Amino acid sequence: MPDFRYQDGEFYCEAVPLRRIAEAVGTPCYIYSHATVVRQFRSFDSAFNEVPHLVAYAIKANSNLALLRLLANEGAGADIVSGGELYRALQAGIAPQRIVFAGVGKSDDEVRYALRSNILMFNVESSDELRAVDRVAGEMHTKARVALRINPDIDPKTHPYISTGLKKSKFGISAERALDEYKLATTLPHIEIVGVHKHIGSQLTQVSPYVDALKRILNLVEQLAGIGVHLRYLNVGGGLGITYQDETPPQPLDLAQAISPLVKDLKCMLIFEPGRSIVGNAGVLLTRVLYHKANPEKVFVIVDAAMNDLIRPSLYGAYHEIKPVHEVRDKLKRQVLADVVGPVCESGDFLAKDRMMPLVDPGELLAVMSAGAYGFSMASNYNSRPRVAEVLVVGSEFHVIRAREEYADLVRGEMIPAFLK
Ligand SMILES: *Cc1c(COP(=O)(O)O)cnc(C)c1O
Repeated sequence: MPDFRYQDGEFYCEAVPLRRIAEAVGTPCYIYSHATVVRQFRSFDSAFNEVPHLVAYAIKANSNLALLRLLANEGAGADIVSGGELYRALQAGIAPQRIVFAGVGKSDDEVRYALRSNILMFNVESSDELRAVDRVAGEMHTKARVALRINPDIDPKTHPYISTGLKKSKFGISAERALDEYKLATTLPHIEIVGVHKHIGSQLTQVSPYVDALKRILNLVEQLAGIGVHLRYLNVGGGLGITYQDETPPQPLDLAQAISPLVKDLKCMLIFEPGRSIVGNAGVLLTRVLYHKANPEKVFVIVDAAMNDLIRPSLYGAYHEIKPVHEVRDKLKRQVLADVVGPVCESGDFLAKDRMMPLVDPGELLAVMSAGAYGFSMASNYNSRPRVAEVLVVGSEFHVIRAREEYADLVRGEMIPAFLK
């Protein structure tokens, strides 16, 4: 994470010491580097210069409006999975012609909203959905552009919760059923078949599953051409991994080198849906140490951030590096085996488990690294904890891009019925 580094014993994001942000905004808070987001987007986009393509940023990774606007300004499209994400994308100024809509369970309302907004296409995941989209489009006297999401049955070799391209997964249409579903689609009057979609999982650290899945899809594209169905878009999904600990994921250029030769003769526009690889290493969660507590086995470092702010460690056993904001230069400083835990009333509430780390004093700040993706976007109000502030750093300036929630926000929309009054 080159935009986060120590300088004179202090941890910085770009040219701003994190301590300054803590003083101004309080803790916990998410801090994002503008430079990292821009660099990651551009490196992805330019890697595929040789082929016509659209980079549709996967909004669910981090859906803050300011980040979406910044990506819109860079020319990004959006991969959305709900009406709410469509709303965010449009609010941020992402062009509807650059928006693709995935997900196994789109409601009629969401389909209507997307048709009204004239998005580029739906990634349809079942024949039930195909019929539903056809019906809603018919009611609106329009046609829906559609790609079918195919499940290529490839093991992405990642965490089971973020594997999506295996036979047993709820996602997509099985490769065996694909041709029949396309045939069905050709008979539906309000469906316009424009493409094919795949997305096999997240945090992929090898190129080979990507390539294997693509080959299966290309097979299908050929079969479809044989029955007169010519596709204009080939959506290869997202999933490129990042370095959390010691992973060495492929870079966009590695992916481009593997993929471009396979698709260059195809008369298709490629669509990519990267999420994590754009924003994951652009953000940290800043938290303050509240207390220490030792039992005979280990030390607990109790901090003010918790699983409701960053759920990845609890949900996936994910590893996030944790760095003291005040650099520990004394190599002799006592290293302890610690769990870094939050205040939430769950034993599963931890940010790090069995971590060897210098014992940082109460009142000191810690940066939980690689928290830009699936951090704030998965945050909840569990334990009635207001969701934290988000801050965007640009050079030597920083901007609050989401205010810390207040207690009143916690009960907004709740009502006590008259009979209880
Ligand atoms: C989640 C998701 C993505 C993004 O995955 P990353 O691993 O964050 O790149 C892309 N496409 C679809 C359909 C998704 O569900």
